[in-house]
This record gives sequence, structure tokens and C-alpha cells, in this order.
Amino acid sequence: MTEKSGKPRDGFAHGTGERDGTGYDVVVVGGGAAGLSAALVLGRARLRALVVDAGEPRNAPSSHMQGYLSRDGMSPAAFLAAGREEVAGYGVELLAGRVTDVTRNDTGTGTADFTALLDGGRTVRARRLIVATGLKDELPAVPGVAERFGRDVLHCPFCHGWEVRDQPFGVLASSAMSVHQALMVSRWSKDVVFFLHTVAEEELSDQDLRRLAAAGVDVVPGEVAGLVAEDDRLTGVRLADGSVHARSVLYVGPRPVPRTSLLERLGAELSETPFGAYPVVDPTGLTSVPGVWAAGNAVGFAEQVVHAASGGYRAAAAIVGDLLMTDLDTATTG
Ligand SMILES: Cc1cc2nc3c(=O)[nH]c(=O)nc-3n(C[C@H](O)[C@H](O)[C@H](O)COP(=O)(O)OP(=O)(O)OC[C@H]3O[C@@H](n4cnc5c(N)ncnc54)[C@H](O)[C@@H]3O)c2cc1C
Repeated sequence: MTEKSGKPRDGFAHGTGERDGTGYDVVVVGGGAAGLSAALVLGRARLRALVVDAGEPRNAPSSHMQGYLSRDGMSPAAFLAAGREEVAGYGVELLAGRVTDVTRNDTGTGTADFTALLDGGRTVRARRLIVATGLKDELPAVPGVAERFGRDVLHCPFCHGWEVRDQPFGVLASSAMSVHQALMVSRWSKDVVFFLHTVAEEELSDQDLRRLAAAGVDVVPGEVAGLVAEDDRLTGVRLADGSVHARSVLYVGPRPVPRTSLLERLGAELSETPFGAYPVVDPTGLTSVPGVWAAGNAVGFAEQVVHAASGGYRAAAAIVGDLLMTDLDTATTG
């Protein structure tokens, strides 16, 4: 059905916002699963949409993406490339670049629109905005972790648990969720060592210790100084005292840093969580700023690819209705 040429199939005026000077119906900031899914819905609803994407999807360090029905095991890059092709087939414009600033303009008609500033200085206008900028994982500062992240240093057993099942796992105490993580990964391996790293054993509650013992998780005190790798594969975790624990997988708890600067610039209300400050949104992703929706990891650190795609879909569908009703009201009441 989709034209691979990227041309519209139906003669409808898609993607002409820039050319005819009226701006876009919607600018989508971020072209990961959330942004592209939104764009697909917008294009199919015959809206003029632009996706601006800086090209740094969160799962880029990983060569495979799991848990998305019918796409299980696909590479993140291939998944997004397929998405971009589908979206372009409905006339949505895709631009590689970064939105560096955004302002809300009062149009004087009781509504507003938005001006987005792109790196390079170009500006684009839109009646509605979707912020699908994702988040950045701030990794624990242990030598070797960043280099191996997404390969044998992992953060999520739902993403990469099955693939490494029954191997000797380590879990680095590095976030508020680390005990939970050590317990969870015991579903995928019965050989789990929980490295306390900078946490004192006394900081673990009785319940933590009971559960860890019941799950067969070995608790090892002492700071982790680095990783040992041979032939580019993790073979061990080295403690500061020089001892090495043979492990082929290490789970860590990155600190999620949501990319909310554009939302903050627009004055969107954020809510603090132990995993960063995220925008307050309604079930469609509408933020506290009228006309601005958010989706994917920009609204929550636990959004997996399938959730992000779903969030983008919901936001776009809400915008289709919102724009239609706005236009009908304008036509009937002036
Ligand atoms: C190592 C790793 C492996 C993972 N594996 C899986 C897995 O197997 N299965 C799974 O379901 N989930 C997995 N995830 C989670 C997955 O990455 C997220 O669920 C998903 O990326 C969220 O999609 P998103 O569209 O919200 O954000 P992203 O995919 O991060 O996309 C956001 C996009 O917005 C762009 N952007 C940011 N700011 C701007 C700006 N100002 N202007 C323009 N563009 C901007 C970014 O460059 C990026 O391209 C994994 C995560 C990690 C870290």
C-alpha cells in the first residue's frame, strides 16, 4: 500500500507546510518509536506533519530489539528505518536535525501555535507539537561499563534476559532499583552475584536480605573497580581489593535523564519521580500546555518500544480530533 517513493498516494496535499508558508499541522520532535508511530497516524489522517530527529535513539547501543510482537530480534536501526519508510509513504516530512528551542505564539484568536528553532537556524511553525525526545541513560562511572553497555553490560532483563539465560550474572548496586533488579534477573539465571559496590550491607533491609537469600542471590560487599574482558567478551568483575569474580553478564542501573528541556521551556508541569522529572500528562499524552503532547520515554523511564509506539499513536489520534474540532468551531463561530 505504501509508496516507497515517499510521494502521497492520493493527491491530497501532504507535507506542504513549509512550501506554502502556512506551517505544519504538527511538528513531532524526535523520530524514535514514539515519534514515528505518531507520524504514521498523522500522515494517514492527511495532516501536514514534520518529524525532526537528532538520530540518537536510546537503544542504539544494542544490536537487537526484543519484546515487540512480530519484530522480536530486529535491529533497532532496521526497525526505525522501516518506520521512516512507512511514514514517508504518507507524505510526512522527515528531517535529520535537532530542535533547539520552541516558543508558543498567541495567534490572537484564542488559540496558539508554535515556532520550533532547528539547529542551523531554520524555524518551522506548527499548530500542535508532539515531544518524543526520549531520555538519556547516565551509566555508573565504573571503567568498562559504558564501552560494554548494550552488549554484555545490560540494564533490563525484559530487553535482554532470554538471550543470556543461565549464564553467570552480576548485578551492580547502582540505583534505587538494584535490589529489585537482582531479584528480577534471578528468573533468567540461578547464578546471580549482587555486587554491593558503594552500598553498605547494613543499608539493605531485612526483607531485602531475606528475598535475596530465598532467590539464591549471592551478596558480595566491596567496591567494583572495573571489568575484565577477553576477546571483547565480559569474563569478570574486578573489585577494588583486586579479586575477580568470573561473570559473563553484568546488569547495571543507569540513571535515566529525561529530555524535557523543550517542555520546560514551554512551561509544562513536571512531576518529580525517583527516576527523573517527567511531564504531567493525561491518558493521551497531553501535557499541561494546551497544544503540546508528549510520548515515549519523554513521559516515563519504563516505556518500552511497544509502549512508546502506542503512546505516539494515542497522542496523534488525540491531535487529529483536536484539530478537526478546532477548525469546525472556527468555521461555525468565526
Ligand atoms: C541498551 C538498551 C536496549 C534496549 N532494548 C530494548 C528492547 O529490546 N526492547 C524494548 O522494548 N525496549 C528496549 N529498550 C528501551 C527503548 O530504547 C525505549 O523503549 C525506546 O527507545 C523509547 O522510544 P522513544 O521514541 O520514546 O525514544 P528514543 O527511541 O530514544 O527516540 C528519541 C529520539 O528523539 C531524538 N531527539 C531527542 N531530542 C531531540 C531534539 N531536541 N530534537 C530532535 N530530536 C531529538 C533522539 O535523538 C532520538 O532519536 C532498550 C534501551 C536500552 C538503553
